[in-house]
Amino acid sequence: MAGDVATAAHVIDGKAFAAGLRARIAEAVPAFRAATGRVPGLAVVLVGDDPASAVYVGSKGKATLAAGMASFEHRLPASATQDAVEALLATLNADDAVDGILLQLPLPAHLGEQRAVATIDPDKDVDGLTPVSAGRLALGIPGMVPCTPYGCLLLLEDRLGDLSGKEAIVVGRSILVGKPMAQLLLGANCTVTMAHSRTRDLPERVRRADIVVAAVGRAEMVKGDWIKPGAVVIDVGINRLPPAAGEAKGRLVGDVDYAEVSVVADAITPVPGGVGPMTIACLLRNTLVAAHRRAGLADPEGL
Ligand code: NDP
Repeated sequence: MAGDVATAAHVIDGKAFAAGLRARIAEAVPAFRAATGRVPGLAVVLVGDDPASAVYVGSKGKATLAAGMASFEHRLPASATQDAVEALLATLNADDAVDGILLQLPLPAHLGEQRAVATIDPDKDVDGLTPVSAGRLALGIPGMVPCTPYGCLLLLEDRLGDLSGKEAIVVGRSILVGKPMAQLLLGANCTVTMAHSRTRDLPERVRRADIVVAAVGRAEMVKGDWIKPGAVVIDVGINRLPPAAGEAKGRLVGDVDYAEVSVVADAITPVPGGVGPMTIACLLRNTLVAAHRRAGLADPEGL
């Protein structure tokens, strides 16, 4: 606080951080190429024609090429069988030019997602969603870590440095975000609380935390009076509000009430422009790391 004027929180610029990370990844690709004679490759598999998924797959492909890596896109029809999806994943597992495999979720309802994901070679599992990757993360041994929580960890370390001993709360326990986030914070020596829809006295628990990660999917749920002054708040949520009068579509907001929390917290990620851009950057980072490990090279530094 400066004098008697409430100071607005530092706004954590995920867009700028992600751009820097992507630039460092692109700079590391030529050295990999010199050592191995090839560039890292990411294969993305899209089953069906969900328009949002098609957009995500397109932007992942573009980002991969922009980093100087090879991008392989595979599309299967919405009617594809479980066997067809798993056969394609097996082909990619065996393909030496492919270092990372991403199966775009959700799959059409007739397919078993967990079974399909589990067929991905854990060493190519750049989404970090196979049971083996989850197990490695829990055991604290090197493996692939889900992109969104890894991006959150990078932003936290950039703001706070060493996280040892910090009280952290993760609100949300999904396989994609909440659970791996809690594991990463535990690995960074935080004291971690995992909260979810059955947690009692949630505001009181959040108020104890130095680090708050909200991954709930409920617009502006975390309020200003839930936050300990000086806490760092990472808002993973992406929620579209109903359109206000005169708006064609509603505003995007996070799971945190930005207006309230940004006058209490030390730092906060905005929505959009906070965690979102980190996800694709971390996908590229995981692909580069997977490529190095598969080639028997040390992990690239500074990523
Ligand atoms: P899920 O719906 O899978 O999980 C939501 C979690 O929040 C559940 O664990 C649920 O608890 C918990 N929860 C729901 N309501 C409450 C409540 N009232 N109080 C406390 N906890 C509650 O969501 P995801 O983890 O996949 O995503 C969370 C948000 O993050 C979404 O807005 C999503 O769009 C966004 N997201 C953003 C990404 C990015 O790149 N920025 C990437 C991925 C997600 P319970 O387990 O008890 O049901």
